[in-house]
Amino acid sequence: MADCVFCKIIEGSIPSSKVYEDDSILAFKDINPAAPVHVLVVPKTHTESLEALNEENMDIVKKIHSAIQEVARIMKINEAGYRVIVNCGKNGGQTVPHLHYHVLGGAKFDEKII
Ligand code: AMP
Ligand code: ZN
Repeated sequence: MADCVFCKIIEGSIPSSKVYEDDSILAFKDINPAAPVHVLVVPKTHTESLEALNEENMDIVKKIHSAIQEVARIMKINEAGYRVIVNCGKNGGQTVPHLHYHVLGGAKFDEKII
């Protein structure tokens, strides 16, 4: 999508620090990290949010989860553990309208909202 920052990162017109890539997924470091390891995992096809998933595009969820495992191994947080967050819509605090999974690790998170 033309004015989507993550689509621009995917097409290469905005630089990013790439962690993992395959045919359908890109993972890159968050520009404003909230943890020692903070990687965003995004589908290459523009999908606005979790609410935009449906029977036709839901296959991407499996690929995203597989990519998250790969990212965790690459960043060496797979054994110690990590947290995955998806913000959805206004009340969820989503600021970039392109589906993305936050992968956070490298520290123990003591604060829990759930
Ligand atoms: P959310 O608030 O869940 O929509 O998350 C959007 C995330 O994208 C935030 O954590 C931002 O720091 C991150 N972000 C925004 N622009 C960029 C960028 N150009 N490169 C990397 N991360 C970005
Ligand atoms: Zn996009």
